[in-house]
Amino acid sequence: MRTVYVNGEFVLEKDAKVSIFDRAFLFADAVYEVTSVLNGKLVDFDNHMKRLHRSMKELNFGTKIKEKEFLEFHRKLVSLNKINEGIVYLQVSRGVAERDFAFPPSDTELTITAFTQKKKLIDNKTAKEGITIITVDDLRWKRCDIKTIQLLYPSIAKTEAMKKGADDAWMTQNGYIMEGTSNNAWIIKGKTIYTREADNLILSGITRRAVIEVAMKLNYKIIHKQFTVQEAENADEAFITSATAFVTPVVKINNTRISKEKPGIFTQSLREACIQQALATLK
Ligand code: PMP
Repeated sequence: MRTVYVNGEFVLEKDAKVSIFDRAFLFADAVYEVTSVLNGKLVDFDNHMKRLHRSMKELNFGTKIKEKEFLEFHRKLVSLNKINEGIVYLQVSRGVAERDFAFPPSDTELTITAFTQKKKLIDNKTAKEGITIITVDDLRWKRCDIKTIQLLYPSIAKTEAMKKGADDAWMTQNGYIMEGTSNNAWIIKGKTIYTREADNLILSGITRRAVIEVAMKLNYKIIHKQFTVQEAENADEAFITSATAFVTPVVKINNTRISKEKPGIFTQSLREACIQQALATLK
């Protein structure tokens, strides 16, 4: 049985308790981060903490977090649960208060929880064979740049995709691809890589930033511009990025095969470079 983290304590998952009045439970008033673990160490931890700070600031969470403390309990969870490869899920909620739409006082204590999951991140089926995607309408709110736990629509979209025999969904607005249910969306046409600008309508992925860096080092041309469903279907290669997927090839979009259903060469080189980059950030 796993050991999890709840407000400063390490407890068996069966003994972990959070109040039913917690604002995460009542209002999805919480933010989260998912940090990958490779070789028993944390990938890109500092950038995850930066984004967590930003999410909390955008939502006016009163209390600040102590980064050093967060690093320590992440490391301890990894070690207690013997995670060599997998993830740490971290959630910070505004805390416990009587149910009311208005925010509670700014000194309300945050609820901080975390747990681990073992997962094969590097050597897995989707990395080798790629994933298939359908496109669906993006019905989310307009602050997708904040990493909140309001994930019901992405959850509906992914379930819909799986019902239709696909692995995941890319969400669209006015014919343009925004992002995946839990990943950023990319296409390659010729020798150019396209990724949508990270504004308020998508999450600025930690992996997205790492891949931009890596691609620049490799002298690949990147254009930060949104692309249509049709452009995606006509792409030479396509892929997703996220902390857990790194770079994972997309081999089919709706009914159109991309790069003859085999992961493309550019995508593969980006995946390898992205993993090397991740290994250089281990903490
Ligand atoms: N977009 C969305 C909607 C996501 O949920 C995620 C994963 N949390 C990402 C993009 C990718 O972000 P990251 O690379 O930081 O995992």
